[in-house]
Amino acid sequence: MKICIRMDDITPDMDWTKFMRFKALCDLYQVKPLIGVVPSNMDENLHICDPKDAPVKDFWGYVRELVNAGWCVAQHGVTHIYTTKKMGCFPLNRLSEFAGIGYDRQYEALKEGSSILMQHGIRTDIFMAPAHSFDRNTIKALKRLGFCRMTDGFGDCPYQRWGMTFYPISYRQGSVLKNKAEKGCTTFVVHTNTMSDKDFERYEQFFAAYRDRLVSYAAFLEMKPQKRGVFGNIREYVMAVMKYVLVSIASRLS
Ligand SMILES: [Zn+2]
Repeated sequence: MKICIRMDDITPDMDWTKFMRFKALCDLYQVKPLIGVVPSNMDENLHICDPKDAPVKDFWGYVRELVNAGWCVAQHGVTHIYTTKKMGCFPLNRLSEFAGIGYDRQYEALKEGSSILMQHGIRTDIFMAPAHSFDRNTIKALKRLGFCRMTDGFGDCPYQRWGMTFYPISYRQGSVLKNKAEKGCTTFVVHTNTMSDKDFERYEQFFAAYRDRLVSYAAFLEMKPQKRGVFGNIREYVMAVMKYVLVSIASRLS
């Protein structure tokens, strides 16, 4: 199975040292990821570096440069503030910026986020929900705003649901690496802000060992989406609940 990369939580105040370290790895193997840019970050947890100290002075200009170099951009929420404890349609987390909020409020917020990106010359039809959490109103509002792709769900190829195309993320990285099938593609989700040296070493080894299977996100977007039946959808929901439970148990034990 092919593997592409998405990098979450891209903001003017992210940890630039770690971002650049991971970017250097992507450049070395000529892998162009999807980056999730937060239009108006208000999440203190993502505030790592004072933008004044950032190596990149023009954040939006830099994002446009990455796009020109073949990187893909997704709108990653709007403010990245979790306002509800709802799990939404893809229940990996019990917190959300959108799930459980009325349609009109979601539409206005998402529109604001999308226009911030557009004011900075960034146009995208891909949405990356903070905490992977969204509901049917989020989908309805996104479609009205011209979005047609989501980076979420589990699976080994893009699939259609609710009039959107979903580009799945991996359920377990270890089993993806063991899967030698020629067909299919999935996404590894990378949060550079919280990566340790050990995490970087793991990714450095993985890029070197699996370079033939790494593809740019743009190649994933070119794959033909499959139709998926009700059983596939139920299976995905159950897998997400299982992952939520396993992650909760692991964090309680650690
Ligand atoms: Zn995020």
